[in-house]
Amino acid sequence: MTTSHDRTAGIPMRLFNTLTREVADFGSANPPEVGMYSCGPTVYADQHIGNMRAYVFADTLKRALDWKGFRVRHVINITDVGHLTSDADEGDDKLEVAARREHRNAWEIAEQYTRDFKADLMRLRIIEPDVWCKATDHIGEMIRFAEVLDASGWCYRLPSGLYFDTSKDRDYGKLARLDLAGQQAGARVEVAAGKRSASDFAVWRTSAPGEKRQMEWDSPWGRGAPGWHLECSVMSIEYLGPHFDIHTGGVDHIPVHHTNEIAQSEAYLADGLPWVRWWLHGEFINLRGAKISKSTGGGILVTDLIDRGYHPLAYRYLLLQAHYRSQTEFSWDAMDSARAGLRRLVDRFAAARSTPAERLGGAAAEHLAAFDRAVSDDLNTPRAVAAAVAASRDDRLTDGELTALAREFDAVLAIGLADLSPADLDLKRSDVAISDEEVRTLLAERNAARAARDFARSDQIRDQLASVGVTVEDQPGGVSTWRWT
Ligand code: AMP
Ligand code: ZN
Repeated sequence: MTTSHDRTAGIPMRLFNTLTREVADFGSANPPEVGMYSCGPTVYADQHIGNMRAYVFADTLKRALDWKGFRVRHVINITDVGHLTSDADEGDDKLEVAARREHRNAWEIAEQYTRDFKADLMRLRIIEPDVWCKATDHIGEMIRFAEVLDASGWCYRLPSGLYFDTSKDRDYGKLARLDLAGQQAGARVEVAAGKRSASDFAVWRTSAPGEKRQMEWDSPWGRGAPGWHLECSVMSIEYLGPHFDIHTGGVDHIPVHHTNEIAQSEAYLADGLPWVRWWLHGEFINLRGAKISKSTGGGILVTDLIDRGYHPLAYRYLLLQAHYRSQTEFSWDAMDSARAGLRRLVDRFAAARSTPAERLGGAAAEHLAAFDRAVSDDLNTPRAVAAAVAASRDDRLTDGELTALAREFDAVLAIGLADLSPADLDLKRSDVAISDEEVRTLLAERNAARAARDFARSDQIRDQLASVGVTVEDQPGGVSTWRWT
């Protein structure tokens, strides 16, 4: 579809970089390719709707970059070992704790919560990453990485493991702008015995004598498990190369996890270059003023939304109405308003949908330009949604223009403007794993990919469906059938 507004030239994509604390024009090292790594979930429990905000943010960013003409290669990890009950080196591994709580095997727990997480991604129309990687599949690489750090003098050994000596890194804490002197003086942390500084962190955790853990491996530092931060450094470098363009996560990752990823990666690469140029962080969604979190019992799930009759995309719409760098508040009233707002929007675009897309004329092209300006302005989704609302209310636009605009808007927002009907927003069935309608939408997308000979995308969709229990069979003549397995 040609339009008189060219979104791939003209308005530059501007983003806020936590490293510089500035909004600047985004550029990739190797345009149009963009390497992007998003810290993924720790699969010891259900991911609540707070966690899902981090992935809706990463997905919207990726969609926006693709829409602006970049080609994003996206990697998300699955943390199935290494993350302790605190983000620092305190407590036990979250998976081991979950295994004791549920009287189950840690591996099974990881598998189940990974499957459930992927089903939620689909419900929120989050595109699957090009690469999924899980920590336990990369233990050998992590040990080799830690050996390089150890051999080049960055680490010291304690009975509890191998620790990174942060005092050796002059730049330590540059992302979080940590006041290390103040932090040391006021340290409330129960520092692992023998740690030289509170900020030093475990690269490898050696199991205590006599301790038997479900997930442990032999290493030069004894039997044990990798430190949490190590997996992200190792896997991102493995799948995106030593330096890549964007690293995302939640704001809670800034002071410890990402700070430590940077320290060990720059020590490992030892080329004097910043490891990753762009660091983007998403803010929290709160419930009654406090961060939604599983530890405080506020763990509302996407399936809970469905049980109450909300389409998951009403939640995506609610999230997009806040800028990713602002905190936002969840409530059932806010869900009602989001559903009502999305229904009004979908209503107009659905009514126009039977008319084929047309080239955009003056007024329609202006709406697209307004949308582009919003998206390009540090991913200002509240303004982008407002641009879609303005277009839906403008009676100068033809139905064909609205059909074309719905596709453009939805390429970034993914809130069903191009395919949902208002009635779809009221769910009747409770606890739908994935609706037949969602399966059909994905199959249509897969058929289009096959017709365009984009077999990578078509395989990706088949795998995505398989991960939620749908088997796709390609019949002769290009027809595909599907069934629940
Ligand atoms: P975790 O599984 O605890 O490592 O968290 C996974 C991701 O969810 C991290 O990027 C967190 O920043 C993010 N997260 C957790 N709670 C919230 C919340 N209430 N709002 C937004 N993001 C959250
Ligand atoms: Zn990470």
